[in-house]
Amino acid sequence: MSASKPVLISGGGLASLLLAQSLRLSNIPFKIFERDASFVFRAQGYRLRLSPEGLDAIESVLDPQTFQRFWDRCGKTGGSGFVAFDAVTGEQIEHETSGSLASRGGKIVGIARGDMRKVFAEGCEEHIEWSKHVAGYELTDDGVRAIFADGTKSVEGSMLIGGEGIYSKVAKQLSGGRLKVYDTGARGIHGQAPSTAFKGLGEGVFRLRDDTRPNGAIFAITNVRPGDMDNPDIQFGWTMGGQPGVVRAPNDDYTIMGKEAADIAKSLTKDWHPRFKPLFDEMNEWEATFWKITCSTPSGVPEWPNDPRVTVIGDAVHSMTPAGGIGANTAVRDSALLGRLLREAGGYKPGITAAYEKEMRVYASEAVQKSYSTATTSFGVNIDEESSPTV
Ligand SMILES: Cc1cc2nc3c(=O)[nH]c(=O)nc-3n(C[C@H](O)[C@H](O)[C@H](O)COP(=O)(O)OP(=O)(O)OC[C@H]3O[C@@H](n4cnc5c(N)ncnc54)[C@H](O)[C@@H]3O)c2cc1C
Repeated sequence: MSASKPVLISGGGLASLLLAQSLRLSNIPFKIFERDASFVFRAQGYRLRLSPEGLDAIESVLDPQTFQRFWDRCGKTGGSGFVAFDAVTGEQIEHETSGSLASRGGKIVGIARGDMRKVFAEGCEEHIEWSKHVAGYELTDDGVRAIFADGTKSVEGSMLIGGEGIYSKVAKQLSGGRLKVYDTGARGIHGQAPSTAFKGLGEGVFRLRDDTRPNGAIFAITNVRPGDMDNPDIQFGWTMGGQPGVVRAPNDDYTIMGKEAADIAKSLTKDWHPRFKPLFDEMNEWEATFWKITCSTPSGVPEWPNDPRVTVIGDAVHSMTPAGGIGANTAVRDSALLGRLLREAGGYKPGITAAYEKEMRVYASEAVQKSYSTATTSFGVNIDEESSPTV
């Protein structure tokens, strides 16, 4: 790698690690600062569906061998498409053919977030500094430094890329508070169970909907892949969500994980049809984790005065509701685009962040709008950009 100042990357999530791969392959030095102590610090949880755009972006960054390893780790689900059931009666209520969800070869392609992170981190490990909580940054005469929560500062970098997710301090500072993440009030739990618990469903992607509560619906989504259903050592995941006010944690503490979160999921699904109950009754309690359903400004990614040395990628700039399953797919497009611009310029050059932001605003705004409008009907969320609470 060249001896120039490194590109500093805040957060070691999906977008940051894919950008790091791109920089590594372009011989551009970089450093990642990750808040957690390791990759296994917390449950890595849920499964991501990959869209054609997301897969193309990932393939454009990784070298062919690494992409092949990534592809081999992806599950490819066929079945009859996206089938929705009434969670209580077990009746089928909707059926979408797999066309709209399939990515390659007519299959729905998905991967566990933890597996995706591991592949993206290959070869970048020595450039990750763990337990570094980025709280902001300062510009220098000829670069930028990250500032950590303990008051210390990083080495001087040529640029800082904020990829530290929905609570990004870099995004807040860069945009002067224009980048906002709204709390929709909807909450969810994601969890895992041995694959044998999913046998009653068969192969496919399923949405279960429970409309029996007066205060709103509960839904769960799961992807059942072929081949592994007889091996209880393999776990499949599910993601449950509730319209605002329906899924509640004790004392509104959504940081609780494990058994406490698992017990809530079990109690919410206690009257569900026997075909679906094993997903919850037999769950791996350690993996159960709450999540807040958040969304960036629904009308699109706002403008802010560009800084040539600092920009933001992934959920830090466009967080989305789970509707449409496009958050990570949009995040990896940022990494591919910014990585390409940096490669073409051979590293930092004035104008790169402006060119990146101009193009990103178009596809990311479309994605946020699409996800939000689907979520208003499916999850009953409603954001007022002036008055809704932010995270
Ligand atoms: C349950 C669930 C299901 C989902 N399903 C899908 C799906 O099917 N398809 C899809 O496209 N998207 C899906 N998403 C969205 C997707 O997970 C996100 O869009 C994606 O992870 C964003 O990647 P990121 O790298 O921007 O942020 P993250 O993956 O959130 O990574 C941010 C990283 O920054 C670190 N960090 C945080 N704060 C700091 C700090 N101050 N300093 C240093 N490091 C910090 C975090 O520890 C983390 O490692 C889903 C999300 C959830 C919650």
